[in-house]
Amino acid sequence: MNDVAMEFIDLCAQLEKMRPAIEKRISKVLDHGKFILGPEVLELEILLADYVGRKHCITCANGTDALQMALMCNGVGPGDIVLTPAFSFFATAEVVPQVGAKPYFVDVDRSTFNICPESVLLALDDIKSQNLGMPKAIIAVDLFGLPANFVELERICKDKGLILIEDAAQGFGGSIMGRRACSFGDVSTTSFFPAKPLGCYGDGGALFTDSDVIAERARSIRTHGAGKHKYEHVRLGLNSRLDTLQAAILLAKFEYFAAELAHRQQVSERYKDACKRVTAPFVPEGYTSGWAQYTVLAKPGERDAIRERLYARGVPTAIYYPRPLNKQTALTDFIEGDVPVANDLSNRVFSLPIGGVQKLHDVTKVVDEVRNL
Ligand SMILES: *Cc1c(COP(=O)(O)O)cnc(C)c1O
Repeated sequence: MNDVAMEFIDLCAQLEKMRPAIEKRISKVLDHGKFILGPEVLELEILLADYVGRKHCITCANGTDALQMALMCNGVGPGDIVLTPAFSFFATAEVVPQVGAKPYFVDVDRSTFNICPESVLLALDDIKSQNLGMPKAIIAVDLFGLPANFVELERICKDKGLILIEDAAQGFGGSIMGRRACSFGDVSTTSFFPAKPLGCYGDGGALFTDSDVIAERARSIRTHGAGKHKYEHVRLGLNSRLDTLQAAILLAKFEYFAAELAHRQQVSERYKDACKRVTAPFVPEGYTSGWAQYTVLAKPGERDAIRERLYARGVPTAIYYPRPLNKQTALTDFIEGDVPVANDLSNRVFSLPIGGVQKLHDVTKVVDEVRNL
């Protein structure tokens, strides 16, 4: 066999397909030379706001800054508690102490892996009865591409007067009853890190909102808290703009995004058919996933052996995430709810290779090897 090894995320296959369109867009930026907040940035913001169904899109330097800006725009700070799922990428929780607030880790749903609305209610009772602080916001994550249960979460947040932030760093492309990810809650954020469903060739992120006030604050915060004039600063901010070059790359790549989503969906269906030894991901009725990752659940104690076998047979896998947020040493000042599911999942999940452009031969290989487990 003269096979090249399969990549876990094959960005080369994608580049091969899009290279002429991307080079054309990059070349235009080199010609006009507006490298910071050039015309491509605004063009992208209009395009993405329209795609997700929000009034405003404010791009920024990365998905982590987008989350931090979402908290800053809503005045979340010292004394406030922010509820986040215990099972997510570190950045979801990292931004909370960055603004001086305290994370409360809530358990996730066993079938969707997303924040569990019943556990949110238990957490709110716990905060109240123990007088732990002021619950101010919930950051709900669209883990692995599947939107969180925003039907319930929007109702809870409205009822309890909480700010709802959608961390759609992995969610871009997913939907609930036709409503797209990045349109839920008060503010949504996403990431354009290369490995995300819509990735650029460096770091990038965006914040979405329907509120004119939040949008104006976010635009100010991403440029050092600027006021009306460049050297008037009305608040503390960040330096967090999306490079014009990255916006240009995203504009070129977005042309292919619908086709990529369809491809990911097809691959997910083939993988699902092959899953017997491991449990395939669950997508609730009315939901679609953007399939940022295809994450399966192994039986207790079986994960390492299964991954080793797949690896030996040429199928790379990855673990997102081997450690829940409540066990991260960098986070010291947090409140840990009862999170048995998050603890269990971190010992049992692993992800199969999936991408927007994937060689058919690679997909078939994964299917065969998973079926033969
Ligand atoms: C990737 C990711 C982020 C952070 O995005 P960056 O662009 O890497 O800063 C935040 N939350 C989740 C769930 C992510 O997967």
